[in-house]
Amino acid sequence: LMQLFRPLDLLGWVYRTIRQGLVDMAEMFKLMDTDVEVRDAPDAPALAVNEPHVTFDNVTFEYEDGRTILNGLSFEVPAGSSLAIVGPSGAGKSTIGRLLFRFYDPQGGRILIDGQDIASVQQDSVRAAIGIVPQDSVLFNDTLRYNIAYGAENAGEEQVTQGAKDAALMPLIERLPDGFDTTVGERGLKLSGGEKQRVAIARTLVKNPPILLLDEATSALDTRTEREILGTLKRLEEGRTTIAIAHRLSTVADADRILVLDSGELAESGTHGELLSQNGLYAEMWAQQAAEQSEESETA
Ligand code: ADP
Ligand code: MG
Repeated sequence: LMQLFRPLDLLGWVYRTIRQGLVDMAEMFKLMDTDVEVRDAPDAPALAVNEPHVTFDNVTFEYEDGRTILNGLSFEVPAGSSLAIVGPSGAGKSTIGRLLFRFYDPQGGRILIDGQDIASVQQDSVRAAIGIVPQDSVLFNDTLRYNIAYGAENAGEEQVTQGAKDAALMPLIERLPDGFDTTVGERGLKLSGGEKQRVAIARTLVKNPPILLLDEATSALDTRTEREILGTLKRLEEGRTTIAIAHRLSTVADADRILVLDSGELAESGTHGELLSQNGLYAEMWAQQAAEQSEESETA
């Protein structure tokens, strides 16, 4: 390396690389709206995932002293199954995702992946096991290829192409003169909300994590684009343990199990059918959203 660069070029290169790294890290954290707060124990082992079973065991959490956000929350997501989390805004749904991704450690209780307490294994190994598709995916000012391979450092050409295919991005890429080498992001080609979510899905397919976390992944999209993206997300969910946080109940009605969260506590849980027949908060939210939906289609 030293022989290839003159000293000043090398300095510039190091500076740009570090800066790029910092900007990317900052953007990744902004994405989850948090700071780096968690430290690994010096001898922490890596998480080993054979069966991606997720357990929240009596989890209590507060961001700041005195304001409980999650209050003794327990639930299980069997390996390969899907769990939806619904509930009013501010209920603590995204907080569950942030804790699972280990942005914070809970003050009480435990979060287990495949029987291992995530607070006592290496943070990086927890994050490597989880793919996130947030509401607004961040694109870096770099090529489509870079954006799709992000987080999977060893991804080759073939995996990137396959990810793009499975995320239904090829019609877009084939239209672009520079294809995968097109620069996107704020300073490049601006993609639509649906296209950005497809890039995020391709990125997650390439990363190939056993656990998937969808936080309002389609709620910024119009209804038609949402329907198309939901189909692509189904492909991503295949064979993975999925936790899907959703505002629009219709997007998660087919989950294996649905949790209704209210003020950091489990209000109800069951399948869509079971929850409707309980006539509680879920049934109420369902009726309300159905009414809004028909109003929308009347005015459309
Ligand atoms: P949801 O996703 O269900 O809308 P969140 O999990 O994002 O809710 O937030 C739950 C509660 O925690 C809210 O009252 C919110 O204001 C609070 N909260 C979220 N993030 C932070 C933070 N970084 N610091 C302090 N409070 C926060
Ligand atoms: Mg949220």
